Amino acid sequence: MKASGRPLFMFAILTGQDAKGAPLYTMSPNIRSHSLFILQVLVVFAAYFATARWGLSHNAVNDFASLIWPPTGIALAAVFLFGYRITPAILFGAFLVNYLSGAPILAAAAIAVGNVLEASVGAWLLHSFRFHPMLNRLVDSFSMIIVALAASVISATIGTATLGSTQLLSASEVPITWLAWWAGDALGALLITPFLLRWLARPPGNGYRTRAQLVESILFLTILIALTLLIFWDPIPQLRGITPAYMLFVPLTWGALRVGPRIMTLAIVTTATLAIIGSFTGTGPYVAADMNDLFFLQMFLSTLAFIFLLFVSAVEERKEATKRLEANVLSLKEDVFNISEADRAKNDFIATLSHELRNPLAPILSTLEIMRIRSAKDAELTTMVDTTHENVMRMTRLLDDLLDIARISRKKITLQMSSVSLNSILVHASEMAQPIMNKFGHRLTVNLPIVDTQLHADQLRIEQVVVNILNNAAKYTPEGGQVSLSAAATSSGVEIRVRDNGIGIPRAEIENIFDPFKQINEGKNGVETSGLGIGLSLAKRLVELHGGTISAASQGAGLGSEFIVRLPAQNPVILLPAQKIAKDSPPHQEQRKQKRKVLVVDDNEAAANSIATLLNHSGHEARVALSGAEALEKLATFSPDIVFLDIGLPDGSGYDVARTIRNYCDPSPILVALTGYGHADDKQRSVEAGFDHHLVKPVSIADLEKTLA
Ligand code: ADP
Repeated sequence: MKASGRPLFMFAILTGQDAKGAPLYTMSPNIRSHSLFILQVLVVFAAYFATARWGLSHNAVNDFASLIWPPTGIALAAVFLFGYRITPAILFGAFLVNYLSGAPILAAAAIAVGNVLEASVGAWLLHSFRFHPMLNRLVDSFSMIIVALAASVISATIGTATLGSTQLLSASEVPITWLAWWAGDALGALLITPFLLRWLARPPGNGYRTRAQLVESILFLTILIALTLLIFWDPIPQLRGITPAYMLFVPLTWGALRVGPRIMTLAIVTTATLAIIGSFTGTGPYVAADMNDLFFLQMFLSTLAFIFLLFVSAVEERKEATKRLEANVLSLKEDVFNISEADRAKNDFIATLSHELRNPLAPILSTLEIMRIRSAKDAELTTMVDTTHENVMRMTRLLDDLLDIARISRKKITLQMSSVSLNSILVHASEMAQPIMNKFGHRLTVNLPIVDTQLHADQLRIEQVVVNILNNAAKYTPEGGQVSLSAAATSSGVEIRVRDNGIGIPRAEIENIFDPFKQINEGKNGVETSGLGIGLSLAKRLVELHGGTISAASQGAGLGSEFIVRLPAQNPVILLPAQKIAKDSPPHQEQRKQKRKVLVVDDNEAAANSIATLLNHSGHEARVALSGAEALEKLATFSPDIVFLDIGLPDGSGYDVARTIRNYCDPSPILVALTGYGHADDKQRSVEAGFDHHLVKPVSIADLEKTLA
């Protein structure tokens, strides 16, 4: 329901605005504000006067102190809403009522001043407590209760003092009259002010209810009214005395939980009015035969108002907090979505960038291989070529790591899991790390367990992890250091340890070094610090993909480091002694060289030519084709033993060319896929297309020789 369709009637009369705050009249601002003010004064005066007459006509203690005094509530709400300029309406209303009740003119004026002071101080207190008429915070109801109890002291004190000093009250009557006056005013404020403020204050935005809420509110009010009548009006004589007043707590609790402060203030006022009327007409549990009965009624109604005002505000506060929380969760979800989208875009970018940067390295490496062969007699040139080669290889490794990180983040990595021997992993890894150990003059000791363990793992990936850690040990240990690699079976799997006596890691940083791009030893201690800070992060993710953990330990800076990789294992099995395994791995150099006819197919002319030159230099006969069609043509005339076939060709994919060769060439040559992608899925596709081997660019002469052999 739209708020604009239902201007609050009372609100409109009193403020000249509809529920959205738009003016209802089109008059000049001056006339409008004057006539509006006069209207407000008249309404407040009339309401004050009428309810005050009603209050005094019912069981007033010594004619002036009523046990229920609604005007206090009206006056307090009016000053709070319209400001202190409304006080003349209260002053005049109170004066007239008291004068008509028999008070001398001065006494009536003094009592009226008391009433005005009470409302003004009360409104001032409410404003200073930052009271909000919506009553949707516990603090609002609490402030309301405090103000009702405190402000009433003023009127009761001035009123009884005036009556006492003018002999209208005897000294003995003063205390009881004061008490009745104070309690009547407090109850009036407690019941009427929250009701008026909550109904007259503009509901913020869409303060309106849904149809279901409206039906529930009506049902609640109906049941409450029926029960109040049953208790206070004795409609069924047989039930008289069996229907205790505290039964009202049941529907009121329902209301406090469900219908909100607006309906609850109405419910409390309605219940109180019906209870008071019943008691005055001689029915219900607090029949007002004498003043004591009315004190009990007062206490009952005050307790009711007290409890349920606080209760409904607390419930409302909780509802609003939940709403805010839900909104926050929603916006957090949006943020997370945006962040993960941005992260995905970043990973895609890193993947593409690394791939694109990696491709040109292929011809560079090939060229370097040629230069190395040609510069064999020039020692200085050989050193320069070696340095360049080493740096290009380092770049290749970094790009590979970046690609892997991006793949893991995009969940595009699949592990080639199989049953693998722990010892063979360690032997391979130590072999791969040996060159860097030699470069830094480190001594690498490898202690393999006598009893080997079978792991269910991706052998290449775990080797990659161990090599990464060994490379770090070499990098972060000053020259001539000690690095050890060892492993042992544990109750849950295996532990691989790499220990060095290098620069160590400050304790505070140990947890951080596994974060991507985190580097802590930059430029310290004269050790090699090149890198992107992704090696350990990659190692961690790979180990975790295997269901394992990785941790680091160090006694501190300068005291060396230890990295421990824990992996789950299959049952340990006894294999050959470790040393035997190491010896068994066949040295590549021993493979015999044979002259081959090779066709290199690559649309990157520089890359194709450099590989062909490299092969020709090594004594093979190599030719180049720059497209799939040219490759098929050359195949017919050249009859190669081996075809190195790039996957991304201008006239189709290398996979299609491979399939055609497999279908139409007999005997068909050995097919080697040459691509920038070394992922397991890519290798699988190559196998499916009919390739015999899969080489990832950049390809070194050693890779080529190995394949040719
Ligand atoms: P980087 O490319 O910088 O080597 P890593 O992720 O492999 O990146 O390592 C992160 C950081 O952890 C390194 O920058 C280094 O500060 C620290 N670190 C790694 N291994 C060792 C080690 N064995 N000794 C001391 N510090 C190390």
